[in-house]
Amino acid sequence: MKYAEYHRRSIAQPEAFWAEQAALIDWHRPWNQVLDGSQRPFANWFSGGLINLCHNAVDRHLPARAGQPALIWESTEVGQSRILTYAQLHTEVQRMAAILRGQGVEQGDRVLIYMPMVPEAVFAMLACVRLGAIHSVVFGGFAALSLATRIDDARPKLVVSSDAGSRAGRVVPYKPLLDEAIARAAHKPEKVLMVDRGLYAYQPVSGRDLDYAAACATVGDTPVPCVWVDAAHPSYILYTSGTTGKPKGVQRDTGGHAVALAASMRDIFCGDPGGVFFSTSDIGWVVGHSYIVYGPLLRGMTTLMYEGTPLRPDAGIFWSLVERHRVNVMFSSPTALRVLKKYDPEFMRKYDLSSLQRLFLAGEPLDEPTSTWASQTLGKPVVDNYWQTETGWPILGIANGVEALPPKLGSPGVAMPGYDVQILHEATGEPVAPGEKGVVAIRWPLPPGCMQTVWGDDQRFVSTYWSTFPGQQAYSTFDWGVADEKGYITILGRTDDVINVAGHRLGTREIEESISSHPAVAEVAVVGAADPVKGQSAMAFVVPREASKITDAAGRASLEADIMQTVQTQLGALARPARVRFVALLPKTRSGKLLRRSIQALCEQRDPGDLTTLEDPLALEQIREAIAHQ
Ligand code: AMP
Repeated sequence: MKYAEYHRRSIAQPEAFWAEQAALIDWHRPWNQVLDGSQRPFANWFSGGLINLCHNAVDRHLPARAGQPALIWESTEVGQSRILTYAQLHTEVQRMAAILRGQGVEQGDRVLIYMPMVPEAVFAMLACVRLGAIHSVVFGGFAALSLATRIDDARPKLVVSSDAGSRAGRVVPYKPLLDEAIARAAHKPEKVLMVDRGLYAYQPVSGRDLDYAAACATVGDTPVPCVWVDAAHPSYILYTSGTTGKPKGVQRDTGGHAVALAASMRDIFCGDPGGVFFSTSDIGWVVGHSYIVYGPLLRGMTTLMYEGTPLRPDAGIFWSLVERHRVNVMFSSPTALRVLKKYDPEFMRKYDLSSLQRLFLAGEPLDEPTSTWASQTLGKPVVDNYWQTETGWPILGIANGVEALPPKLGSPGVAMPGYDVQILHEATGEPVAPGEKGVVAIRWPLPPGCMQTVWGDDQRFVSTYWSTFPGQQAYSTFDWGVADEKGYITILGRTDDVINVAGHRLGTREIEESISSHPAVAEVAVVGAADPVKGQSAMAFVVPREASKITDAAGRASLEADIMQTVQTQLGALARPARVRFVALLPKTRSGKLLRRSIQALCEQRDPGDLTTLEDPLALEQIREAIAHQ
């Protein structure tokens, strides 16, 4: 079928279109309405339907796939691997579910998962949805403050965690950060289930911490039935950064989520049941949720989960895994490929990649040289796709499963099924002509699988995402974009203060708040500046309380290092600025608004733009000098 017609129907007749897609999954009780739009801008998909996500990801495959690997785990960090068939995964998930249930976890309770990339993290996610509990996975690289904020927002009854992760061969303890986060949190979880990997010795907190291995032995192999939940029941919360210091809990439903991911696996990723899917992401990010765990399993594929870096033992590790496990579909990030580009292409070429159909890249802009290099070196199509934590699956891409439209370099592609994507004028909200820049927006309704609301804050969902264009019922992606005559859209960067470091989204406000907590800091501005490998990196400009404290007695830049450490301790290494530079004042408008865009322009050696609103022109001069000389 021609894609244009397929897409047109998904927009013109969304109910008929999505009712057909819903046949991809099992329903315990069918829905009575495909789309309930009575509470716009909320969209309630498959209302009245009863479903269980774990049943769809695991149990329903048992008759045909009990002996097929469901989850392959490879760790170059600890030199271990594990293969679990669908039958074994079913057993492990039930054990985990029995433990959670034994601790009083029930439908609607939140369970926070703070775990490295180990199979138990997947068991925990699936066990939660089996019970109708709502998981919130927090990326293992986040530190105590980030974790505490999420604990207080989600208020989990129980936390599943581990002694440690490992990064490039170095043990990264998790337990002390978790203990500190719980100490900081106002709403403390009752229990912590600890998966002890034997990497880091810790003292369990008596009465609170439970040992997973011991708990498994106690629960044995009692079957734990799936709890059928309403299609609208939340399956998970995943926090993401925005323009305020407080991360937003993106809440995803169950029915729409299952349908959308299953359809995306067929239409966009061309993953066949029985095939092998390898996503190099982490379960702490949305790509990990959608395309390490749920997407591949909903489709009856084998998912390959990898704990390790792209460079250990050498730059060929990804491709050796593709060869070893006969991977059919691979999903990675532009940053990972830019890192690999620095190494000999032989690392890619020496493996048998004949099983691999395509390499999908997403999470940040894919530059043309990296795209061309990757497809030529691999001899495989490289498919860019654009989406967000909020949407859970691609907004833009090429649906090769429907029609192999030609890709366009520099553009992730065209609107995916169900997304009525429009480029709107930032001031008038009117659609702009092809070739003109505007804000990438999606007309109501967001298709199934997209965020339902902000956890615990419906008002924030409406005011954040649906209020940019008054009277338009349009969701703002907060990305600039430009469409061509054929509907290919190119993404031109964020309209807000969110930055993207190595495909990971960070709010400059969060980093600023962390830096401001340092006693030597009077004022701070953080911007994202172009970085050749990571896409962007965070740059901080600080007004110190006392200029004499910037260096120590030996003239070393001690305050810079100290501030970087503060951010690392509070938020995690990912958020640590690449540089902290010191100035006596920051560029602001007369009304006191920070001119982040001008600072960013200077960091990237660009023209800082219109400065007529600047309070004190000297401030920008200082930024310029700090960049040149510090
Ligand atoms: P996240 O929610 O962390 O997935 O980040 C989403 C943001 O990453 C989007 O709003 C874009 O700014 C950016 N992004 C994701 N994928 C792409 C892509 N393929 N091309 C350009 N930007 C992208």
